[in-house]
Amino acid sequence: MLSCQKPKNCWVQFLELVQQRCSRVEYENWFAPIQCVSQSEDEIVLEVPNIFVREYLLDNYKKDLLALLPSNQDGEPAISFVVAEVDESKAMRSIPKIKKPLEKPQNSLNLNGSYTFENFIDGPTNQFIKSAALGVATHPGKSYNPLFIHGGVGLGKTHLLHSISHHIKSQNKKLRIQCITTEAFINELVNNLKSKSVDKMKRFYRNLDVLLVDDIQFLQNRLNFEEEFCNMFETLINQNKQIVIASDKPPGQLKLSERMIARMEWGLVAHVAMPDLETRVAILQHKAEQKGFMLTNKVAFFIAERICSNVRQLEGALNRVGAYCRMMCLDATQEVVEKTLSEMLQAAPQAKVTVDNILKSVAAMYEVKVSDLTGTARNRKVAFPRQIAMYLAKELISDSLMKLASSFGGKTHSTLLHAWKKISKLLEKDETLRRQIRMTRQNIEA
Ligand code: ADP
Ligand code: MG
Repeated sequence: MLSCQKPKNCWVQFLELVQQRCSRVEYENWFAPIQCVSQSEDEIVLEVPNIFVREYLLDNYKKDLLALLPSNQDGEPAISFVVAEVDESKAMRSIPKIKKPLEKPQNSLNLNGSYTFENFIDGPTNQFIKSAALGVATHPGKSYNPLFIHGGVGLGKTHLLHSISHHIKSQNKKLRIQCITTEAFINELVNNLKSKSVDKMKRFYRNLDVLLVDDIQFLQNRLNFEEEFCNMFETLINQNKQIVIASDKPPGQLKLSERMIARMEWGLVAHVAMPDLETRVAILQHKAEQKGFMLTNKVAFFIAERICSNVRQLEGALNRVGAYCRMMCLDATQEVVEKTLSEMLQAAPQAKVTVDNILKSVAAMYEVKVSDLTGTARNRKVAFPRQIAMYLAKELISDSLMKLASSFGGKTHSTLLHAWKKISKLLEKDETLRRQIRMTRQNIEA
C-alpha cells in the first residue's frame, strides 16, 4: 500500500499522468473541473462538479489513483468526494473554471462555420423545414421532438443540423450539445467497446441536452449499434432532451426496426427538397457575394436553370466559374459560363438511366407519386406526367417498347408509342415543357 506524503502533489502527478493518456477534450471535460480541496497523509478530498465525475474517475482510473494517491484499509483509493454547491456567488466566481470544460465540446463539435441559418436561403420548398429547425433551435426540447429531416444529397440537411447547433450554442452556452454523424457515433462506440469505456460514453450521451445525428441511414443493417442508439434515444427523449436526425430517406423507408422507426416518427418528419429556380438564383447570388465574386442576374439564372439536381452541384458550378474567371482574368459573362458549365456537365459520369430513375424524377418534377405514374388514373394531373415519363423512357433507354411499357404497370407498347408521339409534338412549340423536360432529364442524369 502506498502512502502519500504530499497528497496535493500526488494529485498533480496524477493529473500529469492522465493528461498524457487521454484526449484534450476528455481532460477538459472530466479532470479540469476537479478541485483538490484538502489533503492529509491518508486521505485526499476532491471537489467534483457532479456525481458523474466521481463515478467516471473511479470506473476508469482506479488503478492509477491507487498507484499515486493514498489508499484505505480495504485497498480502495482514500478519496472523499464533495459535490460542488451551485450557489449564485460561487457560480459567478467559478465562471472561468466552468466555462472551459463547457467550451471544449463546442470545439469538438466540428461545426462548419458557414452553415448558419443566415446563410441558409429559403424559398417555397424549404421554408417550412427552415422554420421548424429554427423553432427547435430557439426552444430545444419544447417544440418538435424529435425533428426528422430527410431529403436527397446536397440539399442542406447537414447545413441545417449545424445551423441548429450554432444557434443553440450562441443562445445558451451551458447546454450540452452533440452534433455527430452516424458513422462517427459508431466509430466512437467501437473504440469505447475496445477500451472498455462504453459506460463512460453512455453517460456522456445520456447527459446531453441536445443530440443531432446526421446521415442516420448508415445505421441500417447494424443491429447492435441500432439497439444501443435506440436506448440512448429513448433515454434522452423521455427527459425532453432535443433530438434532431437527418436522413436521405423518410423513417418508413429506412431498414431499421419498427421500434426505431416509430420513435423517429414521434415528432415532426419534414422533407427538404430541391429549391425552385428563383431560390437557386438567390443561393447562387448569396454564395457569390460571400466569395466576393460578381454574378449578374442573367448569368445566375443561366446557371440555375441548368443545374437543378442539388445545391452542392450548384455551388460546385459557381466555384468552377469563379476559378476559371480568376485564372483567365475574365468577367463571368454568359459565354464564359456556358463554356465552363458544358465542360462540367460533360465531365460528370453518366449513370445508367433506368425506368425507376425516370419515374422518380418525373414524380418529383410534377409533384405526383411514382405509383400514380405506373397506375391507371386518367385525370390530367397524373396522365400527363405519365406520358412524359413514357416519352423519356423511349428517348433515354434502348430497351424494346414492350419491355419499357411493361415497367409502367403493364401498359401496352402502343400506349407508350402514343405518349411519345404526343409529347414529341408538343415539344416542338412549347418552351415551358421543353424546360421542364430538360430539368427532369438533368435530375435523372445527375
Ligand atoms: P446534405 O447534407 O443534404 O447532403 P449539405 O447540407 O451538405 O447537404 O449542403 C450541401 C451544400 O449546399 C452546402 O455547401 C450548403 O451550404 C449548401 N446549401 C444547401 N441548401 C442551401 C440553402 N438553402 N441555402 C444555402 N446553401 C445551401
Ligand atoms: Mg449531409
